[in-house]
This record gives sequence, structure tokens and C-alpha cells, in this order.
Amino acid sequence: MWIVFIGPPGAGKGTQCSRLVESLSVPHLSTGDMLRDTERDSPLGKVVASYIDVGRLAPDYLVMPIVTKRLSENDCQSGCLFDGFPRTVHQAELLDEFLKQRQVRIDAVLHLHVKPEVLLDRLLKRAELQNRKDDNKETISARLEVYRTQTAPVLQHYRGQGNVLEIDGDQSADRVFDDILTGLESRK
Ligand code: ADP
Repeated sequence: MWIVFIGPPGAGKGTQCSRLVESLSVPHLSTGDMLRDTERDSPLGKVVASYIDVGRLAPDYLVMPIVTKRLSENDCQSGCLFDGFPRTVHQAELLDEFLKQRQVRIDAVLHLHVKPEVLLDRLLKRAELQNRKDDNKETISARLEVYRTQTAPVLQHYRGQGNVLEIDGDQSADRVFDDILTGLESRK
């Protein structure tokens, strides 16, 4: 299956993605992880860091080659779970084009939604546990704003294709996961 996971920072995408990857045995394509994996001291890594450390989106000329390279690998021939991608309508259009060439389309778009006031809390808590440079109050606000203005419209794009599943992310992680599995089952 080709699945896109969309939700604001702090919605719990990471937790649900690890469970899904295990349960569906589908490769996980997280652009956030892949961008963070670029060597911070390399010239490319410095450019990437100059965007992600302040909560801005990395430009498409950096993101798209990372994605298409990953998609050309063997394990990604019959499906994958996109996490954090596409993050703009333009990226969604580029992905549509890419998949069209392979004569496949996105089977399901999981929209994990959570009350905005809960998000900030969760992100600040995560900041204490992990050591992500972009988990500070200022950068978190920037990321939430980028989500609202640039990523939320991606949902409209997919609603036009009729494949969005609405998932209530305010529940316990177990219940969220159950809802995701039930939703995906209905798309098979
Ligand atoms: P979050 O939990 O904030 O959604 P991610 O790990 O998905 O975290 O992304 C972290 C950062 O990586 C983003 O704020 C952005 O700067 C960059 N990034 C990730 N995916 C993309 C993408 N598809 N396009 C542009 N930038 C991206």
C-alpha cells in the first residue's frame, strides 16, 4: 500500500508510524529523519540545518532527490509509508507525477488531527526527552504556522482524490492505532 501520513508536529505521527511499519511490513519514508541524517558538518548538512533548525521547510531541490532516491530502492517498489511528505501542495503534485509514471496512486491519506493547545504541550515535553534542535518554543511556533499555512492545504489536494481518512489523535495511542487499522482495512 501507498500511504501518506499527515498531521501537525506533536500529533503523534512518529509513534503511530513505528507501529504501522511493524504491523504492515511497509517501508517508512520519513523526510524529517532523512534530512536530519545528512551530515551536519557537510556543506549539504549545513544548508539543511539552516532550514530545519528554525522550523522552516527545506526547499524542494533538497527534499525531492532524497525522496526519489529512496523510492528507487528495492523495498519501495510496491508501497511505502510517507511520513512528513508531501508537506506542500507542490510536493504532493510532484509525488502524484512520480507515482503516475509507476502506474500507482496513493491508497490512503491518514490525517491525524489533535487540538492545537495539546500540541504545544506535547512538543515541549518531547523537547525535554529528546535533544532535537527544533524543539524549542520559538521554533515550535514556526513549525505549527508552517503546518497551518503550507501543509494543511495538502489535505484539500487529497480530499479532491477522495482518499483521506480522518483520525482523532486526541485519544490514547492504542485507540489511535486501532482507528488507523480499521480505516486502512476499509481502503483495501
Ligand atoms: P515534525 O514533527 O516537526 O513534523 P519532522 O521530523 O517531520 O518533524 O520534520 C522536521 C523538519 O524537517 C521540518 O520542520 C522541516 O524543516 C524539515 N522537513 C521534513 N520534511 C520535509 C519536507 N517534506 N519538505 C521540506 N522540509 C521538510
